[in-house]
This record gives sequence, C-alpha cells and structure tokens, in this order.
Amino acid sequence: MSTRAQQLRALARKVKGFMPDDEGEALTEIGREAGATFPGGAWLEVGAWCGKSAVYLGLAAEETGCVLYSLDHHHGSEENQVGWEHFDPELIDPVDGRLNTLPHWQRTIATARLEETVVGLVGSSVTIASHFATPLDLLFIDGGHGHDVAWADYFAWTPAVRDGGWLLIHDVFPDPADGGRPPYEIYLEALANGFSDVAAVGSLRALRRD
Ligand code: SAH
Ligand code: MG
Repeated sequence: MSTRAQQLRALARKVKGFMPDDEGEALTEIGREAGATFPGGAWLEVGAWCGKSAVYLGLAAEETGCVLYSLDHHHGSEENQVGWEHFDPELIDPVDGRLNTLPHWQRTIATARLEETVVGLVGSSVTIASHFATPLDLLFIDGGHGHDVAWADYFAWTPAVRDGGWLLIHDVFPDPADGGRPPYEIYLEALANGFSDVAAVGSLRALRRD
C-alpha cells in the first residue's frame, strides 16, 4: 500500500463517525474499482457527517482522478439530536445550540489534503438533487435513516446513476433486530429495479446498475 493510502486510512480511523473500519476500507476498494472502470468520474455521497466516509472514498477518488461530492445539511439526523442514541455534545454550535458538523467535516478534508478531490455540498438532499444534472458513476446513500428521508434520497438520487454505475447503501440490516428498516427497504427496491448485488461488507451493500 502507498504511504498516502496508509496515511489516509490512519486518519479516517480517527474521524468521528459510525462507519466501522472494515466497511470504510471496503468503500476504498469499491471506489478503486469504480474509478478504474470510469476514470475521472463523478461520485456523490448523501450524508457527510464529519468526513469519515469521505476520506475512505476520497482516497480512491484521488487515485483515479474522480471527484466526490459530499452532501449534508450538517445539522444531523433525528438520531443525532439531544436525548437520542447518537448524540455527541462536542458537535453543538455554542452560538445557536444546534448540531453543526460542517467545521469538523472541513477540518477532516483539509487535514487529509483532499480539497481538490472532495467537494462539499451543504444543504438538503432533495433540494440539491432537484438542481443536480451530472450523471453519477458512484452514489453512496448514508443520509437520514427514517422512512421518509431514506425513500426521498432513493428517489431523488438513484436516477442519476449511469448504466454500469455503482450504488452503495449503508446500514442495511436484513434482520430488524440489528437496525432500522428503511435502508434495507431501499436496497430491496434497487434490486427489483435494475440494480444487482456486487459486494456486501457488514451493513454496507454495493450494487451496480445493469
Ligand atoms: N457517511 C458518513 C455518516 C453520515 S451520518 C460517514 O460514514 O462518515 C448521516 C448524515 O446525514 C448526517 O450528518 C445528517 O446531517 C445527514 N442528513 C440527514 N438527512 C439529510 C437531508 N435530508 N439532507 C442532507 N443531509 C442529511
Ligand atoms: Mg451509516
């Protein structure tokens, strides 16, 4: 492995987030394959948080001359708010008391020296999708996990995936005891609508458009 890859992998491991390291490394591997298939391509992740998955994917994007759009409104999902399971008081902006992960995301991407490869899109997923016309070689859905938001992301973004392009979905749990249903439901919907399984690591699923 190159020194650059080792450095970014070590950095990614330290970034706050919910992506287990083996799944993050799978993101890099799948990204390398996508980048080798479509060099110079456009990738997008829905759900940036503090930049952990953006470093894993950004490493592969940099190696293959691709660009990763990393989208988030940066105010967290329902499960990140005060009183919920994934709340982190360090992420609260003292000025307005709201969760704000944007400064953390920016610091991560700057520390990784990925600013020419990873481009932040700050705003609501469906609003940005309605004005985004670039076909995607790789789409990673890891935004809100509630029913309405997950389905909104699916319908807003999957049409942008080109033929042969990759669709990655995180937090897919076939057994309801392991986690919420919506990511699993959109994964099944994709399989029934022109995508095929190519890889699975933990709760990460990788599909390709037929
Ligand atoms: N992919 C990241 C984790 C993302 S966590 C990683 O592995 O490091 C989910 C993110 O989705 C949160 O940061 C939240 O702010 C964002 N999110 C949820 N709903 C959203 C919406 N409708 N538009 C934009 N971002 C949203
Ligand atoms: Mg996730």
